[in-house]
Amino acid sequence: MSTPLNTEHFWMPFSANRQFKSKPRLMVAAEGMHYTTDDGRKILDGTAGLWCVNAGHSHPKIVSAIQQQAAKMDFAPTFQMGHPLAFEAATALVSISPSGLNRVFFCNDGSEGVDTALKIALAYHRVRGDGMRHRLIGRERGYHGVGFGGISVGGIAGNRKHFGPALPAVDHLRHPLNIAKNAFSRGLPEHGAEMADELEQRLLALHDPSTVAAVIVEPLQGSTGVILPPKGYLQKLRSICDKYGILLIFDEVITGFGRLGNAFAADHFDVVPDMIVCAKGLTNAAVPMGAVIVKQEIHDAFMSAAPENTIEFFHGYTYTAHPLACAAAIATIDVYKEQKLFERAADHASYFEDAAHSLKGLPFVKDVRNLGLVCGIELESIPGKPGSRAFDVFLKCFWEQGVLIRTTGDIIALSPPLIIEKQQIDQLFGSIANVLKAQ
Ligand code: PMP
Repeated sequence: MSTPLNTEHFWMPFSANRQFKSKPRLMVAAEGMHYTTDDGRKILDGTAGLWCVNAGHSHPKIVSAIQQQAAKMDFAPTFQMGHPLAFEAATALVSISPSGLNRVFFCNDGSEGVDTALKIALAYHRVRGDGMRHRLIGRERGYHGVGFGGISVGGIAGNRKHFGPALPAVDHLRHPLNIAKNAFSRGLPEHGAEMADELEQRLLALHDPSTVAAVIVEPLQGSTGVILPPKGYLQKLRSICDKYGILLIFDEVITGFGRLGNAFAADHFDVVPDMIVCAKGLTNAAVPMGAVIVKQEIHDAFMSAAPENTIEFFHGYTYTAHPLACAAAIATIDVYKEQKLFERAADHASYFEDAAHSLKGLPFVKDVRNLGLVCGIELESIPGKPGSRAFDVFLKCFWEQGVLIRTTGDIIALSPPLIIEKQQIDQLFGSIANVLKAQ
């Protein structure tokens, strides 16, 4: 028998720690589409870890790149110096980014990426002599990580309520989810583009538009339940931002790296933001890394504003462009290209969509929303016990069906690795169907 687990010291994030006093679920190995638990069960990964292992677990090419780099050079600073992989990783990332976005600021995760992007936005207006622009606008049900910037522009009360007022001068648009009109629509909802007009109304009625620095949205809201942008919605946001000189930031921490069948959701929706925040799939989650990909004009503004030989942007992390993360990112982007994983996701999207919609009509299924290889299944809540129905499905999928799904409230969210096979798509949705039928 293995030594009993000491659960006295690790403070589990976003967890009801007291539930796990005896023992949490434990994963001990992972390969391709599967995890292995400590009791030797194989679990099909329907969530790519936390929406991040897009190329499948422990990809040999990524593993080997990290191992080689660890043996060669563990760390090098990037303040006023660098190492070749930092520049190579940025070049690789730009090679798959929308055209015009070609300068990369590296950080360690999505939360740092969001805070970095917000700081770039605020500083950009200042360096151009437009320092009145200090307001930031996010969206209800937006998730932008857990930094003070991210929880401020994010639209989730639970993430903010214990931490005081956070950033001042932040406003939130309403989210565009409208189940009454769009339930079970396939792909993008038909109704709701007009929700974007709220941005212009708020700018004119509540704020002087010349005080607004940036609007930040997830093009597809992931962790609060897969909320898709209605047709034309993002285009409207783009044109309102353009009209008033406001930067548009896409938080693509979930949608980046093939989730929707393109490198970025910006390509999928054909809307180019001024900055993209990414993380997760950037290194296939093998080493933590995030990045902000910035339009050339924004970078140029910093370069031309500051006097020679001064630091243009006072920001950075000890681990900005960490050599192991850079090695992982370069190898991961190679894997995406060599295995054509974004195209593969696009090819499998309609099969995934059909499988998702096969759940329509099963007990308690209130809505199915999908795009690319992401899907949200919203269940009727049990009165007085929000989230408990979906969590029960999660437990049964894990223990009885050998499938890992994710839930947020009473919404099941699925985002498998892009390497998923058709019969695994059947297994994933079939398992959820089995559990729902037995409710
Ligand atoms: N933005 C979005 C859209 C996310 O989904 C997440 C994480 N799920 C983050 C930011 C924060 O990323 P991290 O947890 O890596 O800090």
